[in-house]
Amino acid sequence: MIFMHGQCVHADSMPTTADMITTTDNYDLTPRNTFAMKVKCGVFMEYTVADDIPFILSSIREGIEHMHIGAGSNILFTSDYPGVVMHSAIKGFEIISESPRELIVRAGAGEVMDDFIRWACDHELWGIENLSGIPGEVGASAVQNVGAYGVEACDTIVAVHAYDSVEREFVTIPVEDCDYGYRDSLFKQPDFKGRYIIHAVDYRLSPIPNPQISYPALKNMFKDCDLCSLTPNDIRKAVINIRDSKLPNPIDAPSAGSFFKNPVVSEKIFSDICNREPDVTVPHYEVKEGYKIPAAWLIDRCGWKGRKEGNAAVWHLQPLVIVNPDRKATPKDIIDLENRIICSVRERFGITLHPEVEHI
Ligand SMILES: Cc1cc2nc3c(=O)[nH]c(=O)nc-3n(C[C@H](O)[C@H](O)[C@H](O)COP(=O)(O)OP(=O)(O)OC[C@H]3O[C@@H](n4cnc5c(N)ncnc54)[C@H](O)[C@@H]3O)c2cc1C
Repeated sequence: MIFMHGQCVHADSMPTTADMITTTDNYDLTPRNTFAMKVKCGVFMEYTVADDIPFILSSIREGIEHMHIGAGSNILFTSDYPGVVMHSAIKGFEIISESPRELIVRAGAGEVMDDFIRWACDHELWGIENLSGIPGEVGASAVQNVGAYGVEACDTIVAVHAYDSVEREFVTIPVEDCDYGYRDSLFKQPDFKGRYIIHAVDYRLSPIPNPQISYPALKNMFKDCDLCSLTPNDIRKAVINIRDSKLPNPIDAPSAGSFFKNPVVSEKIFSDICNREPDVTVPHYEVKEGYKIPAAWLIDRCGWKGRKEGNAAVWHLQPLVIVNPDRKATPKDIIDLENRIICSVRERFGITLHPEVEHI
């Protein structure tokens, strides 16, 4: 059985042939990137079954560049893309195995991640409710190792199903081999980038209640609640409320979410910063490599919160987010603002920020 948006569909009624590929030349990518950059690609190819992937790749002439996108919510197109942009429209969820303690659910790479999460919550299945509201698709959730409110995708991913474009074969990569780290994975590493085209991801969900509310805002919201009575939908609603209070909705203020990575600095640099900012406690987390400082705090201290430069702006509620407030920003507007932020943080703190958003 395959579940599509909560309905049951028999697997044999799913499309199975390569004729489900849609090809469009000179394609407008504006609705395909949450920054709403007005850019085009040479060819856009959307497919609905995994078997289409090798067919599409073999149809791309040598020397023509190609890339895969999801919902374009972690991408900044810096100009038109001359090559082929692929997109998966593989939808549906399939229960692969079921026991009293857990279900393994396979979700199609082109499924909207939040639709999958809503489906899980509506079926009282635990594991991914804290990821509610993160834009994007299931395939990219495994590339990005999306995370929020104390939970990461890799906590519940069991395996990733992909087409290996180098070996030209379908592969199943168990979670242990995905090399997951903070917003990082095998699929992002330079040697493997673009090699695997993901067509489905297996997630482990559980009917046994397991609310993850260690994140301070969540803990506070549920401090007077009987934790045993919570449902995944209670957590989902709380998470969405917190997100809505801080993050711009891509429809109202296009963005790609957190624009910069949180820098990790040595003990010496950290203590220099503390000495230079004696009026405040510098927020930080100790990590293996040193001290991680929230990029949002550094940007805020440089006075960027809410500032608009040309047609790009820093979100007034969360300085880590660059927005395209009137949908008039060009890639250059975003990059100019990005560079000005990087320069001012470097001048004040001696730290170079690096973008989290992928520049294409
Ligand atoms: C308002 C806002 C809030 C956000 N909040 C969060 C958050 O809380 N936590 C978080 O982790 N992220 C967050 N993000 C970032 C973003 O939502 C995630 O990175 C998401 O996983 C990107 O999904 P996507 O489908 O849009 O992928 P895209 O941005 O289209 O692509 C991301 C990468 O995945 C690759 N890719 C996409 N699909 C496939 C595929 N099928 N096979 C192989 N490679 C593929 C692309 O080539 C690209 O390298 C936020 C973004 C926005 C706009």
